[in-house]
Amino acid sequence: MGARRASKDSDRRIGRRALLAGLAATAGGTAVLARDQLGRLWWRVPGVEKARKAGEVDYTGARWVAASSANWRLADRPADYGIDMVVIHVTQGSFDSAVKVFQDPGHGAAAHYIVRKDGHITQMIRELDVAYHAGNRDYNERSVGIEHEGFVDQPEDFTDEMYEASARLTARICARYDIPVDREHVIGHVEVPGTDHTDPGEGWDWDRYMRLVREASAGTTGRAQGRSASAGSAAESGVS
Ligand SMILES: [Zn+2]
Repeated sequence: MGARRASKDSDRRIGRRALLAGLAATAGGTAVLARDQLGRLWWRVPGVEKARKAGEVDYTGARWVAASSANWRLADRPADYGIDMVVIHVTQGSFDSAVKVFQDPGHGAAAHYIVRKDGHITQMIRELDVAYHAGNRDYNERSVGIEHEGFVDQPEDFTDEMYEASARLTARICARYDIPVDREHVIGHVEVPGTDHTDPGEGWDWDRYMRLVREASAGTTGRAQGRSASAGSAAESGVS
C-alpha cells in the first residue's frame, strides 16, 4: 500500500512539473513521454529545485554553515538568472557575528561567503540561490556576494591572508561563470545603485585586490580546479 501510494504521488509530482514547463500541450500529454525524458526537460525549467547535497559547497576548501532561509531565495542560477558580477562587502563586525546574523531569520540579509581575517572561508548560501546581500533585487539576482571580516574605517583589518583568499575565491567564481575580471564586474557594495552602504570603503585596496584576482585567474583558467585557501563571502545590506 505504501509503495503504491508513493508511486502515485510521484506521478502527480511529475505532472505538476510538466505543467510548469508548459509541456502539458505536448501531444498525448505527459504520460506519453518517457520518464527520463521528462526529467531532462524538467531540469531546464527555471526556478525548479535541483538536487542538492546537504553541506555541499561551491568552493573547495570553504566550510558550509547554512544561512537562515529567510535571508535568501531559492533559485537555479545560472539557468534562471545569469551571474555576471561579484560584490565585495565588509561585515562591520567580527566574523562570528556575521555568521550569526546570517543565521538569523529576522536579519533579512546574508551573503554567499564570508572571508575571515586569517583567510578562512565560510559559505552560507549556494551560488545557485539568490542571496539578499546587495540591497538591490537585480544585483542580488546576478551576483555572488562576498563578505570580509572587519570595518570599513579600519583597513588594517584587511589582512594579506584575507586579500589572497578572497582573490582566489573571486577568481574561481569569475572562471566558473565566465565573468570578466575587471571593476565593472567585481564591484563594491557601495557601487550598487540605490545603496546607502559604503563598504568595502576607502581602505579597501582595489588595485591590489584586482591584481591578486588576475594572478589567481591565470592559475585557474580553463578547467583548473581552483582550490585554495579561501575567502569570502558576501554579505548583505544589513551587516555591511
Ligand atoms: Zn555590504
